[in-house]
Amino acid sequence: MTNPAISDDRHDAPANPIQAPGTDEAEWRAWDGWDAMEPARLPERGHVVVVAAHPDDEVLGFGGSMALLAARGVRLTVVSVTDGEGSHPGSRVVTPTALAELRADELRAALAELGAERAEIVRLGVPDTGVADHEERLADALTPLLRGADMVAAPWTGDVHSDHEAAGRAARTAARRTGTPCSLYPVWMWHWARPDDPRVPWHSARRVDLPDPVREVKRAAIDRFTTQIRPLGPGPQDAAVLPPEELAHHLRPMEVLFQ
Ligand SMILES: [Zn+2]
Repeated sequence: MTNPAISDDRHDAPANPIQAPGTDEAEWRAWDGWDAMEPARLPERGHVVVVAAHPDDEVLGFGGSMALLAARGVRLTVVSVTDGEGSHPGSRVVTPTALAELRADELRAALAELGAERAEIVRLGVPDTGVADHEERLADALTPLLRGADMVAAPWTGDVHSDHEAAGRAARTAARRTGTPCSLYPVWMWHWARPDDPRVPWHSARRVDLPDPVREVKRAAIDRFTTQIRPLGPGPQDAAVLPPEELAHHLRPMEVLFQ
């Protein structure tokens, strides 16, 4: 998901909640708020467009849902807003250009694990860490992709990562123009928020329960993002972006959408 603690200098302020130690997944699992959350609405048929700021956001936040949709025969379009080329600035091992292609390959392999190998992938090539500077152009690019779609899912506009928030806002603008139902999925929120956190609009949170077989394919899909979950090389600039304690949030038996 391109850790802004490493790649986005606009998030380098010491108060950045993403840089602070994250909330333990055990704390989320023990939360009694899950029971009060209503089920999310997912289309039974038709076409769903899934927007990601970086290749892996869509699988981390919405991968189980994509597996459920693919199994129903729903047509999927996955939009990679950036190629995620900025996840390892200063890497001694991989250039940004090579990383972009590696991450595109990882996404395709991950979608195959989800049973969504027929999904169309659209790469928009917006610069990684610079989505907010291209928000209007992004909304214009998303608008024709959303025409006739039954749902768009995009990163949550309150995720405290500027690329995620800008991608979510642009998707919401395009959804408003086309009358498409818009769902927003959190990614970093599970790191910086706490159960019952007042910064989170829990009243609009809806749950997607993931049966065990769906959890298993989601786990396999996440495991395809090798450049993000394993070190690229021995140096600190080549460290894994997503350590196991972050991945744990995305391996639980449900996903949450703001609807
Ligand atoms: Zn991301």
